[in-house]
Amino acid sequence: MDNVTSGNRPAQKPNYAKQTEEILDDLLTKGQTPRILLHSCCAPCSSHVLEYLREKADVTVFYYNPNITDREEYEERKKEELRLIEEYNKQVEENDFSGMHSTSAARKIKVLDADYDPAVFLEAVKGLEECREGGPRCEKCFALRLKETARKAREENFDFFTTTLTISPLKNAERINRIGTETEKEEGVRFLPSDFKKKDGYKRSLELSERFHLYRQDYCGCEFSKRERTDGREQ
Ligand code: SF4
Repeated sequence: MDNVTSGNRPAQKPNYAKQTEEILDDLLTKGQTPRILLHSCCAPCSSHVLEYLREKADVTVFYYNPNITDREEYEERKKEELRLIEEYNKQVEENDFSGMHSTSAARKIKVLDADYDPAVFLEAVKGLEECREGGPRCEKCFALRLKETARKAREENFDFFTTTLTISPLKNAERINRIGTETEKEEGVRFLPSDFKKKDGYKRSLELSERFHLYRQDYCGCEFSKRERTDGREQ
């Protein structure tokens, strides 16, 4: 259960967006620039997250998504992710941020690629194929991607790992943050809490997707979510 209650009063929801800001601003005040390994699911979801984080941190994108339906879709999403990063890095090189919510504090973004191994995902969600999007299958999918990101972050000595997944209004930020915190304990690398959709983050991701003409798929990623979307349309 994601919402814990105490007595008759519902527990107050943590403000993850505020936590992100406080952690990063505190480090900036101390003159420290954290190295963050950011799991990204696709270019549209990372657009606002990168615009925001590159001001405050040294960001490396980790494209680890074995959940995606097939190789073609996987490569298409990855290509768009790399194109977006290239556009952002060009802005830094030229110190030209017209139309962006960025300043000259913005840093270049690096990339760490991973292998596409859909068998790992299918094994992780075995028996949960028929669950609706947002249910237990997604929990396993988040955990799989966060664990691998944390593992890589530890291996490469990053200060934090985090994910773009909280930008989506369809995904439960509390659940993602809970899994991130559990993974932090298991892997021994710090998790940066987030709720990137807040403060108009999701709205900004739509504006940026339009501005950069990003390929924006209409389903989450796995074959089951694709089928759910197709069935929904047919009905
Ligand atoms: S719907 Fe999305 S989050 Fe859920 S299992 Fe499929 S790809 Fe993963």
